Amino acid sequence: MILAVSSLKPPHPRYRGRFAPSPTGPLHAGSLASALGSWLDARANQGAWLVRIEDLDVPRCITGMDQRILAQLQACGLTWDEEVIWQSQRLSAYQNALETLYKDRQIYPCTCSRQQITSALSSQGKLRARNQEQVYPGTCRNGHVWQAQLPKESSASAWRLAIKHDQQVRFTDAEFGLLEQNLNGDVGDFVLRRADGIFAYQLAVVVDDARQGITHIVRGADLLNNTGRQIYLQGVLGYSTPQYRHLPLVLDPHGEKLSKQTRATEVNTASDAAVLDALQAAALHLGLSGLSDLQGQTIAEWLLQATHAWTDRTRQISRTQN
Ligand code: GLU
Ligand code: ZN
Repeated sequence: MILAVSSLKPPHPRYRGRFAPSPTGPLHAGSLASALGSWLDARANQGAWLVRIEDLDVPRCITGMDQRILAQLQACGLTWDEEVIWQSQRLSAYQNALETLYKDRQIYPCTCSRQQITSALSSQGKLRARNQEQVYPGTCRNGHVWQAQLPKESSASAWRLAIKHDQQVRFTDAEFGLLEQNLNGDVGDFVLRRADGIFAYQLAVVVDDARQGITHIVRGADLLNNTGRQIYLQGVLGYSTPQYRHLPLVLDPHGEKLSKQTRATEVNTASDAAVLDALQAAALHLGLSGLSDLQGQTIAEWLLQATHAWTDRTRQISRTQN
């Protein structure tokens, strides 16, 4: 009896997923594929799907792009279940997290310029290739005179998280399997608030995923390198770690990731036919098979079909991993 009842339960009774676009440009083929993958995963698990606008990096954000993205999602039938949140409205939450970390002496101010970091690294023989992130050498780690509270006017200094010794983060990604990253050797003490006062993506994403009770993160593989940092920070802040699934990236004909910089074109939502074309392309990219001809289908019908195809896809992937 008990078995029968539990087998009727949805696979994740409390599944909460999210899509977290930065309003730096409209949805393009790449971000649509991420949005679709994350939406389908939530629907296939009878979960909730949330949208969060990551608009902290003001210099990179474009006015009106948040509404543009939301309208595009809506036109694609990718509806959300709770009110959209804007990170720019949540600064006090990030500040509180920073205060907590300060009281625990887990963060410290850093005034190093890029050039100072480079020369400190080169004197240690640890300089990296141009396109690789430099690992912060820890120059400012021990120089701080601790106060009872996070200093109010800490202008012109960035705040870095002091990574404990020998932090090897391991996690199982639903697409990539078991992964690990040595935070000390690979990233070093990373920034949680920039010298210009802007809260860093790593801090905001972790605080918000926890606040919104996110259990499943489905996003592009371009973000994979951030996951170790985020899992570590979740641990430091006492939050639980969601499950991660990083989706294959859509590349342009030159093998580059699609982005605003590579002039990726905006998803065309001018008609239902155009939307179906864009969705079908995203689905093919995600490796969804068995999606029949678009002829005569509504967007809602197509999405239902795609949800079934997604379930098959995830089953196949987890079978190949076991
Ligand atoms: N806002 C980030 C981006 O657009 C995504 C954050 C995330 O999904 O964790 O690249
Ligand atoms: Zn420094």
